[in-house]
Amino acid sequence: MTHDNSALHDLTVAQLATQLRERKVSAVETAQHFLARARTHASLGAFLDTNEDVTLAQARAADAALAAGTASAAQALLGVPLAHKDIFVTQDFVTTAGSKMLANYRSPFDATVVAKLAQQGVVTLGKLNCDEFAMGSANENSAFGKVANPWDATRTPGGSSGGSAAAVAARLVPAATGTDTGGSIRQPASFCGITGIKPTYGRASRYGMVAFASSLDQAGPMARTAEDCALLLSAMCGPDPDRDSTSLDVPEENFSRSLTDSVHGLRIGVPAEFFGEGLAPDVRAAVEAALTQYEKLGARLVPISLPRTELSIPVYYIIAPAEASSNLSRFDGVKFGHRAEKYTDLIDMYKKTRAEGFGDEVKRRIMIGAYVLSHGYYDAYYLQAQKIRRMIADDFQQAFKQCDVIAGPVAPTVAWKLGDKSEDPVASYLADIFTLPGSLAGLPGMSIPVGFGAGEMPVGMQLIGNYMQEAKLLNVAHRFQQATEWHSAKPRGF
Ligand code: GLN
Repeated sequence: MTHDNSALHDLTVAQLATQLRERKVSAVETAQHFLARARTHASLGAFLDTNEDVTLAQARAADAALAAGTASAAQALLGVPLAHKDIFVTQDFVTTAGSKMLANYRSPFDATVVAKLAQQGVVTLGKLNCDEFAMGSANENSAFGKVANPWDATRTPGGSSGGSAAAVAARLVPAATGTDTGGSIRQPASFCGITGIKPTYGRASRYGMVAFASSLDQAGPMARTAEDCALLLSAMCGPDPDRDSTSLDVPEENFSRSLTDSVHGLRIGVPAEFFGEGLAPDVRAAVEAALTQYEKLGARLVPISLPRTELSIPVYYIIAPAEASSNLSRFDGVKFGHRAEKYTDLIDMYKKTRAEGFGDEVKRRIMIGAYVLSHGYYDAYYLQAQKIRRMIADDFQQAFKQCDVIAGPVAPTVAWKLGDKSEDPVASYLADIFTLPGSLAGLPGMSIPVGFGAGEMPVGMQLIGNYMQEAKLLNVAHRFQQATEWHSAKPRGF
């Protein structure tokens, strides 16, 4: 196949899948093209592991299936390359979860989400940088270096799925997986001007996702368009009863089926609490312009209230560390991962291993978590937080009596400068205010690019749906992207 491949990286997943199916490009040349881009733009810091032999072997297998015409109808993604957030365990690549604790760790199995995408014929380009154990909002907590935002290398790509968002925005991959515990798909998507969706809690299996806060963690796709996210999410979701007891007993769904439905008459709830004092004027302007665009498409804006929005910060930063402190107890130097070299006895080995292996933010959360779960404080903090979590979920159900979807900003500001909040964890926690409520309620949420703000940085709008309303969310996002061009904007130099 001899033709100009120079713009292969500008194709969306949907376009690439079609070209591959029609044999206009091969999976091998596509994979080689993207691997070369990853090398050229290595200074972004997005990739943590690549393995050309593995990738090309997968691509050759995809080409063979494409040539033989043996692809099943279910293999809509045959030959499409993507990369995984380094929180998903993979047999063929190292899995670090951004932690020294797991440096060079190789899993004996693939995460369910990784395996499901592989069944669809995707070609894996490698593993993408993230905050250590997915704790963070700027990707600065990774033990393996910072990630630059392709729109401005002095700024953060967001976190914790910062490598995924930067790689998609810089067109080093057509799409990537991410995980979202309190905003880690939506916020980096917003900061990097791409599209991402976190499904309803339980729709995608957590098996093989290195656990942070198990009652919140969810996997989802990050890509340039809602159409691509629909394709990928359809492949990622589905029950996994034997391996994840919290995975929902809901059949797989084709999230692309209603993409082009009209949004005429759609009621968009606009929560007053998402447009208060803390919202930067540039972000407000871009989100309000997007809402006006929706009105032009025939949607109706409905003022709503999510009265406990502010409480979502203390509630999340009690529950997530509590679960993290329990989940991370497995990293003790005995079973797997890092072990201190010098120690006197077993207790000393535990202590030294954990002191060496975990970064500051992870240690902070383990301490907070152990504290709020301890005898005497459990009722005052953990139990209280659980009660308010329930109320936050109820507030959404009240709101959904008046509207079909909820819209607002993803984050109060555009991407900040690298280093700006790294010494001040609370400042970074506060910036999670708009993504945490939906996470605590377990609702699906997405981020779509809606313009540019301060420093010419991308602004994302958040769309939140009721449980199982992923298809609706993707439809609402897709209609916006059919009418606007924000999702096609490209950072200079990529
Ligand atoms: N920024 C939030 C945190 O630090 C959310 C991270 C996430 O969703 N994984 O916990």
